[in-house]
Amino acid sequence: MRDKLFIDGKWEKPRRGGTLDVIDPATEEVIHRAPAATYDDIDRAVKAARIAFDSGPWPKLTGTERAVYLRAIAEKIEERRHALARLEVTDNGKPLPEALWDIDDAAGCFRYYAGLAEELDANPEETIAVGDNRFTARAIREPLGIVGAITPWNYPLLMVSWKVAPALAAGCTIVLKPSELTPLTALELGAIAEEIELPPGVLNIITGTGQDAGQPLTEHPLVDKLAFTGSVPTGRKVMMAGAQDIKNISLELGGKSPFVVFADSDIDRAVEWIMFGIFWNQGQVCSATSRVLVEEPIYEAVVKRLCEEVAKIKIGNGLDDGTLLGPIVSKGQYDKILTAIDRARQDGATIAAGGGRPAGFNSGYFIEPTVLTDMSEDSYVWREEIFGPVVCVKPFADEADAVRMANDSRFGLAAAVMSADKARCERVARALRAGIVWVNCSQPTFTEAPWGGYKQSGIGRELGRWGLSNYLETKQITSFDADEPWGWYIKA
Ligand code: NAD
Repeated sequence: MRDKLFIDGKWEKPRRGGTLDVIDPATEEVIHRAPAATYDDIDRAVKAARIAFDSGPWPKLTGTERAVYLRAIAEKIEERRHALARLEVTDNGKPLPEALWDIDDAAGCFRYYAGLAEELDANPEETIAVGDNRFTARAIREPLGIVGAITPWNYPLLMVSWKVAPALAAGCTIVLKPSELTPLTALELGAIAEEIELPPGVLNIITGTGQDAGQPLTEHPLVDKLAFTGSVPTGRKVMMAGAQDIKNISLELGGKSPFVVFADSDIDRAVEWIMFGIFWNQGQVCSATSRVLVEEPIYEAVVKRLCEEVAKIKIGNGLDDGTLLGPIVSKGQYDKILTAIDRARQDGATIAAGGGRPAGFNSGYFIEPTVLTDMSEDSYVWREEIFGPVVCVKPFADEADAVRMANDSRFGLAAAVMSADKARCERVARALRAGIVWVNCSQPTFTEAPWGGYKQSGIGRELGRWGLSNYLETKQITSFDADEPWGWYIKA
Protein backbone atom coordinates (compact mmCIF):
# COMPACT_ATOMS: atom_id res chain seq x y z
CA MET A 1 0.00 0.00 0.00
CA ARG A 2 1.29 3.42 -0.94
CA ASP A 3 2.15 6.22 1.46
CA LYS A 4 3.09 8.99 -0.96
CA LEU A 5 1.29 11.31 -3.34
CA PHE A 6 1.79 10.95 -7.10
CA ILE A 7 2.80 14.37 -8.42
CA ASP A 8 4.47 15.11 -11.76
CA GLY A 9 5.33 11.45 -12.29
CA LYS A 10 7.07 11.11 -8.90
CA TRP A 11 6.07 9.82 -5.46
CA GLU A 12 6.25 12.57 -2.87
CA LYS A 13 5.52 12.85 0.83
CA PRO A 14 2.88 15.46 1.67
CA ARG A 15 4.64 18.72 2.61
CA ARG A 16 3.05 18.77 6.05
CA GLY A 17 3.61 15.05 6.53
CA GLY A 18 -0.01 14.27 7.49
CA THR A 19 -1.63 10.85 7.22
CA LEU A 20 -5.15 9.46 6.97
CA ASP A 21 -6.16 6.31 8.82
CA VAL A 22 -7.57 3.76 6.37
CA ILE A 23 -9.97 1.47 8.24
CA ASP A 24 -11.23 -1.96 7.23
CA PRO A 25 -14.97 -1.57 7.91
CA ALA A 26 -15.40 -5.31 8.52
CA THR A 27 -12.91 -5.35 11.41
CA GLU A 28 -12.58 -1.66 12.39
CA GLU A 29 -8.80 -2.10 12.23
CA VAL A 30 -6.49 0.55 10.80
CA ILE A 31 -4.96 -1.16 7.78
CA HIS A 32 -2.94 1.72 6.38
CA ARG A 33 -1.91 5.31 6.84
CA ALA A 34 -2.39 7.06 3.54
CA PRO A 35 -0.83 10.43 2.74
CA ALA A 36 -2.94 13.48 3.62
CA ALA A 37 -2.40 16.30 1.16
CA THR A 38 -2.93 19.98 1.95
CA TYR A 39 -2.90 23.20 -0.07
CA ASP A 40 0.86 23.12 -0.93
CA ASP A 41 0.56 19.62 -2.39
CA ILE A 42 -2.52 20.54 -4.41
CA ASP A 43 -0.75 23.60 -5.72
CA ARG A 44 2.27 21.53 -6.84
CA ALA A 45 0.03 18.97 -8.50
CA VAL A 46 -2.06 21.59 -10.32
CA LYS A 47 1.07 23.38 -11.54
CA ALA A 48 2.49 20.07 -12.79
CA ALA A 49 -0.77 19.38 -14.65
CA ARG A 50 -0.74 22.93 -16.07
CA ILE A 51 2.80 22.56 -17.40
CA ALA A 52 1.99 19.10 -18.81
CA PHE A 53 -0.98 20.60 -20.60
CA ASP A 54 0.57 23.87 -21.81
CA SER A 55 3.99 22.60 -22.84
CA GLY A 56 3.97 18.80 -22.56
CA PRO A 57 3.26 16.31 -25.34
CA TRP A 58 -0.07 14.94 -24.05
CA PRO A 59 -2.72 17.25 -25.55
CA LYS A 60 -0.82 17.36 -28.85
CA LEU A 61 -0.70 13.57 -29.30
CA THR A 62 -3.22 12.12 -31.72
CA GLY A 63 -6.16 10.24 -30.24
CA THR A 64 -4.63 7.04 -31.60
CA GLU A 65 -1.40 7.73 -29.72
CA ARG A 66 -3.25 8.42 -26.48
CA ALA A 67 -5.29 5.24 -26.98
CA VAL A 68 -2.08 3.19 -26.64
CA TYR A 69 -1.64 4.50 -23.08
CA LEU A 70 -5.30 3.93 -22.20
CA ARG A 71 -5.14 0.31 -23.36
CA ALA A 72 -1.91 -0.17 -21.41
CA ILE A 73 -3.67 1.09 -18.26
CA ALA A 74 -6.54 -1.37 -18.91
CA GLU A 75 -4.05 -4.24 -19.23
CA LYS A 76 -2.26 -3.32 -16.01
CA ILE A 77 -5.59 -3.15 -14.15
CA GLU A 78 -6.45 -6.60 -15.49
CA GLU A 79 -3.04 -8.00 -14.47
CA ARG A 80 -3.65 -6.80 -10.89
CA ARG A 81 -7.37 -7.74 -10.93
CA HIS A 82 -7.38 -9.84 -7.76
CA ALA A 83 -5.07 -7.60 -5.76
CA LEU A 84 -7.08 -4.49 -6.63
CA ALA A 85 -10.38 -6.21 -5.83
CA ARG A 86 -9.07 -7.28 -2.41
CA LEU A 87 -7.89 -3.75 -1.69
CA GLU A 88 -11.36 -2.51 -2.59
CA VAL A 89 -12.97 -5.02 -0.18
CA THR A 90 -10.75 -4.11 2.76
CA ASP A 91 -11.10 -0.40 2.02
CA ASN A 92 -14.84 -0.22 1.24
CA GLY A 93 -16.32 -3.43 2.67
CA LYS A 94 -18.13 -4.67 -0.46
CA PRO A 95 -18.31 -8.42 -1.25
CA LEU A 96 -15.38 -9.68 -3.33
CA PRO A 97 -17.47 -10.71 -6.39
CA GLU A 98 -18.83 -7.16 -6.57
CA ALA A 99 -15.31 -5.73 -6.22
CA LEU A 100 -14.20 -7.96 -9.10
CA TRP A 101 -17.05 -6.55 -11.25
CA ASP A 102 -15.87 -3.05 -10.40
CA ILE A 103 -12.27 -3.77 -11.38
CA ASP A 104 -13.33 -5.41 -14.65
CA ASP A 105 -15.59 -2.44 -15.39
CA ALA A 106 -12.75 -0.03 -14.62
CA ALA A 107 -10.47 -1.83 -17.09
CA GLY A 108 -13.33 -1.90 -19.61
CA CYS A 109 -13.83 1.83 -19.19
CA PHE A 110 -10.19 2.57 -20.14
CA ARG A 111 -10.51 0.28 -23.18
CA TYR A 112 -13.77 1.88 -24.27
CA TYR A 113 -12.34 5.40 -24.12
CA ALA A 114 -9.25 4.21 -26.01
CA GLY A 115 -11.68 3.45 -28.84
CA LEU A 116 -13.31 6.87 -28.57
CA ALA A 117 -9.87 8.56 -28.59
CA GLU A 118 -9.20 6.86 -31.91
CA GLU A 119 -12.57 8.00 -33.23
CA LEU A 120 -11.53 11.59 -32.54
CA ASP A 121 -8.85 11.14 -35.23
CA ALA A 122 -11.35 9.61 -37.62
CA ASN A 123 -13.67 12.64 -37.27
CA PRO A 124 -11.26 15.54 -36.68
CA GLU A 125 -13.69 18.26 -37.79
CA GLU A 126 -17.20 18.95 -38.92
CA THR A 127 -17.99 21.38 -41.73
CA ILE A 128 -21.01 23.51 -40.89
CA ALA A 129 -23.37 24.75 -43.57
CA VAL A 130 -23.72 28.53 -43.10
CA GLY A 131 -26.00 30.92 -44.97
CA ASP A 132 -23.27 32.61 -47.04
CA ASN A 133 -21.24 30.49 -49.44
CA ARG A 134 -18.25 32.86 -49.31
CA PHE A 135 -17.49 31.43 -45.88
CA THR A 136 -16.36 28.01 -44.71
CA ALA A 137 -17.22 27.22 -41.10
CA ARG A 138 -15.86 24.23 -39.27
CA ALA A 139 -16.18 22.90 -35.72
CA ILE A 140 -13.21 21.17 -34.16
CA ARG A 141 -12.91 19.67 -30.70
CA GLU A 142 -9.95 20.24 -28.42
CA PRO A 143 -8.98 19.04 -24.94
CA LEU A 144 -10.55 21.26 -22.30
CA GLY A 145 -7.48 21.71 -20.09
CA ILE A 146 -6.68 20.85 -16.46
CA VAL A 147 -9.28 18.68 -14.76
CA GLY A 148 -9.79 18.61 -10.98
CA ALA A 149 -11.50 15.23 -10.47
CA ILE A 150 -13.08 14.51 -7.07
CA THR A 151 -14.58 11.07 -6.41
CA PRO A 152 -16.58 9.26 -3.68
CA TRP A 153 -15.96 6.04 -1.75
CA ASN A 154 -18.75 3.73 -2.97
CA TYR A 155 -17.03 2.47 -6.14
CA PRO A 156 -13.50 3.72 -5.51
CA LEU A 157 -11.56 2.73 -8.65
CA LEU A 158 -14.61 2.61 -10.90
CA MET A 159 -15.68 6.20 -10.14
CA VAL A 160 -12.06 7.25 -10.73
CA SER A 161 -12.02 5.49 -14.11
CA TRP A 162 -15.29 7.15 -15.21
CA LYS A 163 -13.43 10.48 -15.01
CA VAL A 164 -9.78 9.67 -15.68
CA ALA A 165 -10.36 7.50 -18.79
CA PRO A 166 -12.41 10.04 -20.81
CA ALA A 167 -10.28 12.97 -19.60
CA LEU A 168 -7.10 11.20 -20.79
CA ALA A 169 -8.79 10.19 -24.04
CA ALA A 170 -9.70 13.83 -24.67
CA GLY A 171 -6.10 15.00 -24.06
CA CYS A 172 -6.66 16.72 -20.71
CA THR A 173 -4.30 16.58 -17.75
CA ILE A 174 -5.68 15.68 -14.34
CA VAL A 175 -5.40 16.20 -10.61
CA LEU A 176 -7.41 13.42 -9.00
CA LYS A 177 -8.62 13.54 -5.39
CA PRO A 178 -10.29 10.27 -4.37
CA SER A 179 -12.37 9.92 -1.21
CA GLU A 180 -10.33 9.99 2.00
CA LEU A 181 -12.27 6.90 3.13
CA THR A 182 -11.09 4.72 0.21
CA PRO A 183 -7.80 6.02 -1.22
CA LEU A 184 -5.99 2.71 -1.82
CA THR A 185 -6.84 1.74 -5.40
CA ALA A 186 -6.54 5.31 -6.70
CA LEU A 187 -2.94 5.34 -5.44
CA GLU A 188 -2.37 2.04 -7.27
CA LEU A 189 -3.47 3.81 -10.46
CA GLY A 190 -0.50 6.12 -9.88
CA ALA A 191 1.78 3.08 -9.87
CA ILE A 192 0.17 1.94 -13.12
CA ALA A 193 0.67 5.39 -14.69
CA GLU A 194 4.34 5.19 -13.69
CA GLU A 195 4.75 1.68 -15.15
CA ILE A 196 3.25 2.56 -18.50
CA GLU A 197 5.35 5.76 -18.59
CA LEU A 198 2.46 8.16 -18.87
CA PRO A 199 4.18 11.56 -19.40
CA PRO A 200 4.87 13.36 -16.08
CA GLY A 201 2.14 15.67 -14.83
CA VAL A 202 -0.61 14.14 -16.98
CA LEU A 203 -2.17 12.29 -14.04
CA ASN A 204 -1.51 13.51 -10.49
CA ILE A 205 -3.06 11.71 -7.52
CA ILE A 206 -3.60 13.53 -4.27
CA THR A 207 -5.20 11.82 -1.29
CA GLY A 208 -6.61 13.91 1.51
CA THR A 209 -9.78 15.19 3.11
CA GLY A 210 -12.47 17.17 1.36
CA GLN A 211 -11.64 20.26 3.35
CA ASP A 212 -7.83 20.19 3.13
CA ALA A 213 -7.37 18.73 -0.36
CA GLY A 214 -10.73 18.82 -2.19
CA GLN A 215 -11.63 22.42 -1.49
CA PRO A 216 -8.24 23.91 -2.51
CA LEU A 217 -8.49 21.94 -5.75
CA THR A 218 -11.93 23.40 -6.51
CA GLU A 219 -10.67 26.91 -5.74
CA HIS A 220 -7.38 26.72 -7.65
CA PRO A 221 -7.33 29.33 -10.42
CA LEU A 222 -5.25 27.16 -12.78
CA VAL A 223 -7.88 24.38 -12.88
CA ASP A 224 -10.16 24.63 -15.93
CA LYS A 225 -12.73 21.97 -15.12
CA LEU A 226 -14.19 20.34 -12.02
CA ALA A 227 -15.56 16.84 -12.44
CA PHE A 228 -17.25 15.88 -9.18
CA THR A 229 -19.13 12.84 -7.91
CA GLY A 230 -20.52 12.90 -4.40
CA SER A 231 -23.34 14.26 -2.28
CA VAL A 232 -25.60 17.20 -3.07
CA PRO A 233 -24.28 19.42 -0.22
CA THR A 234 -20.67 18.95 -1.38
CA GLY A 235 -21.72 19.37 -5.03
CA ARG A 236 -23.22 22.73 -4.09
CA LYS A 237 -19.89 23.81 -2.51
CA VAL A 238 -17.97 22.60 -5.57
CA MET A 239 -20.26 24.58 -7.85
CA MET A 240 -19.89 27.71 -5.73
CA ALA A 241 -16.10 27.39 -5.63
CA GLY A 242 -15.97 26.85 -9.39
CA ALA A 243 -18.19 29.87 -10.02
CA GLN A 244 -15.36 32.20 -8.96
CA ASP A 245 -13.36 31.52 -12.13
CA ILE A 246 -16.32 30.29 -14.24
CA LYS A 247 -14.85 26.79 -14.36
CA ASN A 248 -16.51 24.14 -16.49
CA ILE A 249 -18.36 21.90 -14.03
CA SER A 250 -19.96 18.48 -14.18
CA LEU A 251 -21.71 17.03 -11.13
CA GLU A 252 -22.87 13.48 -10.43
CA LEU A 253 -24.83 13.68 -7.20
CA GLY A 254 -27.23 11.73 -5.04
CA GLY A 255 -30.62 10.20 -5.59
CA LYS A 256 -33.77 8.75 -4.07
CA SER A 257 -34.75 6.66 -7.02
CA PRO A 258 -38.20 5.09 -7.40
CA PHE A 259 -38.98 1.55 -8.61
CA VAL A 260 -42.59 1.23 -9.85
CA VAL A 261 -43.93 -2.34 -9.85
CA PHE A 262 -47.27 -2.95 -11.61
CA ALA A 263 -49.65 -5.74 -10.58
CA ASP A 264 -49.05 -7.80 -13.74
CA SER A 265 -45.37 -8.36 -12.75
CA ASP A 266 -43.99 -11.74 -11.75
CA ILE A 267 -43.58 -11.36 -7.99
CA ASP A 268 -40.42 -13.47 -7.62
CA ARG A 269 -38.66 -11.58 -10.40
CA ALA A 270 -39.81 -8.26 -9.01
CA VAL A 271 -38.45 -9.16 -5.56
CA GLU A 272 -35.04 -10.15 -6.94
CA TRP A 273 -34.67 -6.83 -8.82
CA ILE A 274 -35.99 -4.84 -5.84
CA MET A 275 -33.36 -6.51 -3.63
CA PHE A 276 -30.53 -6.02 -6.10
CA GLY A 277 -31.67 -2.42 -6.61
CA ILE A 278 -31.18 -1.56 -2.94
CA PHE A 279 -28.92 -4.14 -1.29
CA TRP A 280 -25.97 -4.54 -3.67
CA ASN A 281 -22.98 -2.59 -2.41
CA GLN A 282 -24.88 -2.36 0.91
CA GLY A 283 -27.24 0.14 -0.71
CA GLN A 284 -24.40 2.66 -1.03
CA VAL A 285 -25.28 3.30 -4.65
CA CYS A 286 -26.23 6.71 -6.02
CA SER A 287 -28.84 5.13 -8.30
CA ALA A 288 -30.16 2.67 -5.66
CA THR A 289 -33.91 2.22 -6.10
CA SER A 290 -34.66 3.03 -2.47
CA ARG A 291 -38.35 3.95 -2.93
CA VAL A 292 -40.39 1.00 -4.14
CA LEU A 293 -43.96 1.68 -5.33
CA VAL A 294 -46.12 -1.42 -5.69
CA GLU A 295 -49.59 -1.50 -7.27
CA GLU A 296 -52.21 -2.21 -4.59
CA PRO A 297 -53.38 -5.71 -5.69
CA ILE A 298 -49.90 -7.23 -5.17
CA TYR A 299 -48.55 -4.88 -2.46
CA GLU A 300 -49.04 -7.27 0.50
CA ALA A 301 -47.65 -10.24 -1.45
CA VAL A 302 -44.54 -8.32 -2.56
CA VAL A 303 -43.77 -7.09 0.97
CA LYS A 304 -44.20 -10.60 2.39
CA ARG A 305 -41.98 -12.19 -0.26
CA LEU A 306 -39.40 -9.43 0.06
CA CYS A 307 -39.13 -9.91 3.83
CA GLU A 308 -38.75 -13.69 3.40
CA GLU A 309 -35.89 -13.23 0.92
CA VAL A 310 -34.23 -10.46 2.94
CA ALA A 311 -33.98 -12.83 5.91
CA LYS A 312 -31.83 -15.16 3.76
CA ILE A 313 -29.19 -12.57 2.79
CA LYS A 314 -25.78 -13.65 4.06
CA ILE A 315 -24.12 -10.81 5.94
CA GLY A 316 -20.38 -10.92 6.56
CA ASN A 317 -16.86 -9.88 5.71
CA GLY A 318 -16.69 -9.17 1.98
CA LEU A 319 -13.77 -11.57 1.70
CA ASP A 320 -15.82 -14.54 2.99
CA ASP A 321 -17.39 -16.91 0.46
CA GLY A 322 -21.08 -16.35 -0.14
CA THR A 323 -21.30 -12.90 1.51
CA LEU A 324 -24.01 -10.85 -0.18
CA LEU A 325 -23.99 -7.90 2.23
CA GLY A 326 -20.76 -6.53 3.69
CA PRO A 327 -20.25 -3.77 6.26
CA ILE A 328 -21.05 -0.09 5.73
CA VAL A 329 -17.99 1.90 4.62
CA SER A 330 -17.34 3.89 7.81
CA LYS A 331 -18.48 4.56 11.36
CA GLY A 332 -19.88 7.92 10.27
CA GLN A 333 -22.01 6.39 7.51
CA TYR A 334 -23.07 3.53 9.83
CA ASP A 335 -24.29 5.99 12.48
CA LYS A 336 -26.08 8.07 9.85
CA ILE A 337 -28.03 5.05 8.57
CA LEU A 338 -29.02 3.82 12.04
CA THR A 339 -30.16 7.35 12.94
CA ALA A 340 -32.32 7.46 9.79
CA ILE A 341 -33.91 4.10 10.70
CA ASP A 342 -34.66 5.38 14.23
CA ARG A 343 -36.16 8.55 12.83
CA ALA A 344 -38.37 6.48 10.48
CA ARG A 345 -39.55 4.43 13.46
CA GLN A 346 -40.36 7.60 15.43
CA ASP A 347 -42.18 9.05 12.39
CA GLY A 348 -44.50 6.03 12.38
CA ALA A 349 -42.96 3.71 9.78
CA THR A 350 -43.19 -0.06 10.27
CA ILE A 351 -39.90 -1.98 10.30
CA ALA A 352 -41.01 -4.97 8.22
CA ALA A 353 -37.50 -6.53 8.15
CA GLY A 354 -34.10 -5.76 9.67
CA GLY A 355 -33.74 -2.37 11.32
CA GLY A 356 -30.49 -2.61 13.23
CA ARG A 357 -27.18 -4.33 13.81
CA PRO A 358 -27.30 -8.04 12.95
CA ALA A 359 -26.98 -10.47 15.86
CA GLY A 360 -23.59 -12.09 16.41
CA PHE A 361 -21.43 -9.26 15.02
CA ASN A 362 -19.14 -7.83 17.67
CA SER A 363 -17.06 -5.63 15.38
CA GLY A 364 -17.48 -4.08 11.98
CA TYR A 365 -20.03 -1.57 10.70
CA PHE A 366 -22.74 -4.10 9.83
CA ILE A 367 -26.40 -3.19 9.37
CA GLU A 368 -29.20 -5.60 8.54
CA PRO A 369 -30.96 -5.25 5.20
CA THR A 370 -34.00 -3.24 6.21
CA VAL A 371 -37.52 -3.01 4.74
CA LEU A 372 -39.73 -0.11 5.85
CA THR A 373 -43.45 0.31 5.16
CA ASP A 374 -46.26 2.66 6.23
CA MET A 375 -44.13 5.82 6.06
CA SER A 376 -45.78 9.03 4.92
CA GLU A 377 -44.87 10.69 1.65
CA ASP A 378 -43.44 13.68 3.48
CA SER A 379 -41.34 11.65 5.94
CA TYR A 380 -37.56 12.02 6.03
CA VAL A 381 -36.90 8.40 5.14
CA TRP A 382 -39.12 8.58 2.02
CA ARG A 383 -37.62 11.86 0.78
CA GLU A 384 -33.93 11.84 1.73
CA GLU A 385 -31.04 9.72 0.49
CA ILE A 386 -30.07 7.24 3.25
CA PHE A 387 -27.25 5.63 1.24
CA GLY A 388 -27.49 2.29 3.00
CA PRO A 389 -29.40 -1.04 2.88
CA VAL A 390 -32.77 0.53 3.64
CA VAL A 391 -35.74 0.28 1.28
CA CYS A 392 -39.09 2.06 1.66
CA VAL A 393 -42.13 0.33 0.14
CA LYS A 394 -45.48 2.03 -0.53
CA PRO A 395 -48.62 1.01 -2.41
CA PHE A 396 -50.09 3.00 -5.31
CA ALA A 397 -53.57 2.98 -6.89
CA ASP A 398 -53.00 3.48 -10.62
CA GLU A 399 -50.47 4.59 -13.23
CA ALA A 400 -51.08 8.31 -12.75
CA ASP A 401 -50.67 7.92 -8.97
CA ALA A 402 -47.42 5.98 -9.45
CA VAL A 403 -45.90 8.57 -11.79
CA ARG A 404 -46.91 11.42 -9.48
CA MET A 405 -45.37 9.73 -6.41
CA ALA A 406 -42.24 8.67 -8.30
CA ASN A 407 -41.60 12.20 -9.62
CA ASP A 408 -42.30 13.91 -6.30
CA SER A 409 -38.64 14.26 -5.33
CA ARG A 410 -35.91 16.88 -5.60
CA PHE A 411 -33.68 14.15 -7.03
CA GLY A 412 -33.86 12.70 -10.53
CA LEU A 413 -30.94 10.33 -10.98
CA ALA A 414 -32.57 7.00 -11.80
CA ALA A 415 -35.89 5.15 -11.79
CA ALA A 416 -37.21 1.70 -12.68
CA VAL A 417 -40.52 0.34 -13.90
CA MET A 418 -41.72 -3.25 -14.05
CA SER A 419 -44.78 -4.55 -15.92
CA ALA A 420 -45.68 -7.26 -18.42
CA ASP A 421 -47.25 -4.52 -20.55
CA LYS A 422 -44.53 -3.10 -22.80
CA ALA A 423 -46.56 -0.09 -23.89
CA ARG A 424 -47.15 0.86 -20.27
CA CYS A 425 -43.44 0.48 -19.47
CA GLU A 426 -42.58 2.81 -22.34
CA ARG A 427 -45.22 5.37 -21.28
CA VAL A 428 -44.04 5.39 -17.67
CA ALA A 429 -40.34 5.41 -18.62
CA ARG A 430 -40.95 8.58 -20.62
CA ALA A 431 -43.05 10.18 -17.88
CA LEU A 432 -40.41 9.66 -15.17
CA ARG A 433 -38.16 12.70 -14.58
CA ALA A 434 -34.85 10.87 -14.23
CA GLY A 435 -31.63 10.59 -16.21
CA ILE A 436 -31.61 6.78 -16.20
CA VAL A 437 -34.73 4.58 -16.39
CA TRP A 438 -34.54 0.80 -16.15
CA VAL A 439 -37.39 -1.30 -17.52
CA ASN A 440 -38.02 -4.72 -15.93
CA CYS A 441 -34.69 -4.47 -14.08
CA SER A 442 -32.76 -2.08 -11.84
CA GLN A 443 -29.09 -1.03 -11.83
CA PRO A 444 -27.28 -2.74 -14.75
CA THR A 445 -24.90 -0.07 -16.05
CA PHE A 446 -23.06 0.01 -19.36
CA THR A 447 -19.99 2.07 -20.17
CA GLU A 448 -21.44 2.92 -23.58
CA ALA A 449 -24.68 4.50 -22.29
CA PRO A 450 -25.11 8.01 -20.78
CA TRP A 451 -25.14 8.34 -16.98
CA GLY A 452 -26.32 11.30 -14.94
CA GLY A 453 -29.22 13.00 -13.24
CA TYR A 454 -32.08 15.43 -13.65
CA LYS A 455 -32.92 18.02 -11.01
CA GLN A 456 -30.61 18.06 -7.95
CA SER A 457 -28.98 14.77 -9.00
CA GLY A 458 -26.46 16.61 -11.10
CA ILE A 459 -25.34 18.43 -14.19
CA GLY A 460 -23.97 16.75 -17.31
CA ARG A 461 -23.52 13.12 -18.27
CA GLU A 462 -20.70 10.64 -17.76
CA LEU A 463 -19.99 7.48 -19.76
CA GLY A 464 -20.48 6.88 -23.46
CA ARG A 465 -19.64 9.62 -25.94
CA TRP A 466 -21.34 12.07 -23.54
CA GLY A 467 -18.58 11.33 -21.03
CA LEU A 468 -15.89 12.25 -23.57
CA SER A 469 -17.67 15.52 -24.43
CA ASN A 470 -17.28 16.53 -20.77
CA TYR A 471 -13.56 16.98 -21.40
CA LEU A 472 -13.64 18.61 -24.85
CA GLU A 473 -14.04 22.22 -25.90
CA THR A 474 -15.69 23.00 -29.23
CA LYS A 475 -13.99 25.59 -31.41
CA GLN A 476 -15.48 27.25 -34.46
CA ILE A 477 -13.01 28.11 -37.26
CA THR A 478 -14.60 30.23 -39.95
CA SER A 479 -12.75 31.50 -43.02
CA PHE A 480 -13.70 34.02 -45.67
CA ASP A 481 -12.76 32.34 -48.94
CA ALA A 482 -14.03 34.80 -51.55
CA ASP A 483 -11.60 36.94 -53.55
CA GLU A 484 -13.60 40.16 -53.02
CA PRO A 485 -13.86 42.89 -50.40
CA TRP A 486 -16.23 42.40 -47.52
CA GLY A 487 -18.26 45.44 -48.56
CA TRP A 488 -18.61 47.29 -45.27
CA TYR A 489 -17.05 50.36 -46.84
CA ILE A 490 -14.99 49.07 -49.83
CA LYS A 491 -17.35 48.42 -52.70
CA ALA A 492 -16.52 45.62 -55.17
P1 NAD B 1 -19.16 13.45 -0.32
O1 NAD B 1 -19.87 14.57 -1.00
O2 NAD B 1 -19.08 13.45 1.15
O3 NAD B 1 -17.65 13.36 -0.83
C1 NAD B 1 -17.32 13.21 -2.18
C2 NAD B 1 -15.92 13.72 -2.41
O4 NAD B 1 -15.90 15.13 -2.20
C3 NAD B 1 -14.87 13.13 -1.47
O5 NAD B 1 -13.68 12.91 -2.21
C4 NAD B 1 -14.67 14.24 -0.46
O6 NAD B 1 -13.41 14.23 0.15
C5 NAD B 1 -14.83 15.46 -1.34
N1 NAD B 1 -15.17 16.71 -0.62
C6 NAD B 1 -15.81 16.84 0.58
N2 NAD B 1 -15.94 18.16 0.88
C7 NAD B 1 -15.39 18.86 -0.15
C8 NAD B 1 -15.26 20.24 -0.45
N3 NAD B 1 -15.69 21.20 0.39
N4 NAD B 1 -14.67 20.60 -1.61
C9 NAD B 1 -14.24 19.66 -2.48
N5 NAD B 1 -14.34 18.33 -2.25
C10 NAD B 1 -14.91 17.94 -1.10
O7 NAD B 1 -19.82 12.12 -0.88
P2 NAD B 1 -19.48 10.62 -0.46
O8 NAD B 1 -20.05 10.41 0.92
O9 NAD B 1 -18.05 10.32 -0.71
O10 NAD B 1 -20.32 9.80 -1.53
C11 NAD B 1 -21.66 9.54 -1.38
C12 NAD B 1 -22.48 10.47 -2.26
O11 NAD B 1 -22.04 10.37 -3.61
C13 NAD B 1 -23.94 10.06 -2.28
O12 NAD B 1 -24.76 11.22 -2.18
C14 NAD B 1 -24.10 9.41 -3.64
O13 NAD B 1 -25.40 9.43 -4.14
C15 NAD B 1 -23.15 10.19 -4.47
N6 NAD B 1 -22.74 9.43 -5.66
C16 NAD B 1 -23.23 9.80 -6.89
C17 NAD B 1 -22.90 9.08 -8.03
C18 NAD B 1 -23.45 9.46 -9.39
O14 NAD B 1 -22.97 8.96 -10.38
N7 NAD B 1 -24.45 10.33 -9.46
C19 NAD B 1 -22.03 7.99 -7.92
C20 NAD B 1 -21.54 7.64 -6.68
C21 NAD B 1 -21.89 8.37 -5.55
